[in-house]
Amino acid sequence: MATVHNWQLGREMTYRHEGGSYDRQFAAVFNINRCIACQTCTMSCKSTWTHSPGQELMWWNNVETKPFGGYPAHWDSRLLSMLEDANPGGQTWTAERGDDDAPYGEFGGRTVFEASSPTERALGYLPQEADWKSPNRYEDHATGHSKTGASLPEHDGWFFYLARICNHCSYPACLAGCPRNAIYKRPEDGIVLVDQERCRGYQKCVESCPYKKAMYRPTTRTTEKCIACYPRVEGSDPLTDGQPMETRCMAACVGKIRLQGLVNVDDSGVWSSDPSHPLYYLVHTERVALPLYPQFGTQPNIYYIPPRWVPRKYLYQMFGPGVDDAIAAYTRPSRRLLAVLQLFRATQEMVFSFDVQEGPKLNEIMVDGEPLELFDDTVVGFDRDGREIVRVRVEDPLIERPGKINSI
Ligand code: SF4
Ligand code: SF4
Repeated sequence: MATVHNWQLGREMTYRHEGGSYDRQFAAVFNINRCIACQTCTMSCKSTWTHSPGQELMWWNNVETKPFGGYPAHWDSRLLSMLEDANPGGQTWTAERGDDDAPYGEFGGRTVFEASSPTERALGYLPQEADWKSPNRYEDHATGHSKTGASLPEHDGWFFYLARICNHCSYPACLAGCPRNAIYKRPEDGIVLVDQERCRGYQKCVESCPYKKAMYRPTTRTTEKCIACYPRVEGSDPLTDGQPMETRCMAACVGKIRLQGLVNVDDSGVWSSDPSHPLYYLVHTERVALPLYPQFGTQPNIYYIPPRWVPRKYLYQMFGPGVDDAIAAYTRPSRRLLAVLQLFRATQEMVFSFDVQEGPKLNEIMVDGEPLELFDDTVVGFDRDGREIVRVRVEDPLIERPGKINSI
């Protein structure tokens, strides 16, 4: 076992391998406030990668309705209970929020690696076949009905949509659990892949992954998982002329909730300071996007802007102690943040840096009893080589169609 630094936990932790040295890390931000559960992401992934025999139950991208839904069934509440049983009352965050090394404070509890028994490499369980049967059970099921009607900030009766893919974790539990060393993390982009030649289908990765994103294929007797559309990430799709391209699920997102990219990381796994990168800006500068269940300890690389209307206790459990700051930042966005939020789904080429050009004042609105000025700023996105690839204004341009728009 090695000692590695997990910046999401604000501390060192034990892991099976030394932290790898990666040039870049695949990462994304999902804005839950905008997801409409149209499942376009789900189907774009399914029709690209998992439409063959033996892959029927594989949903590398899924969108579940929280708090009751989950795929496989109850994946998160089940593991949370196991962690609580392993460390009763101890799964808590202790220290104050700090700098980039500990932006959410320090987690004083046990990760899936630290709570495991001597015979396993990560605390986990193997879902039963029935757990994989219903990918969207409890769709649109809310908690108890409100007697008073719904109003922000928190609703009495609530639900929200949680879109999920493999997190291409910095410390993958699937990789730690594999007795065949068949799972590896690519140094060039941190994408986690299964070597199909080495895999013998022991399903230890399925058991170990806390997010249950490694899936067994009975027809080949091997595990398969999200491959982060790596040909697109590598820039081999002819559409982008060699430039890295976002994955299918990101590029197809109807609700414009997703922004994906590659971030630079230093030797200890912390993101290198780069406030002009939109993902760095959202995760580290504004701290408006948070990791999913950071307490599991895998340092997941998909980040979420939490839903504003959900009771905070539930959100603390799911996203950690950064929730209040993240929701405050999203509810009253800075001028720069409002501009960067316009980059979501504005292009399918990966944005590596951005600039904001200031525009005229648009309006002044009241938010939480305080005035908030809105400006028609323009955000400009640049590709890996610094070329401009997208330009979006805060205010949608009003376009009037000509009287005769076609020949019918
Ligand atoms: S989410 Fe699961 S399958 Fe994906 S890298 Fe992390 S531990 Fe592995
Ligand atoms: S395509 Fe986007 S809006 Fe639709 S379900 Fe997927 S994440 Fe949500």
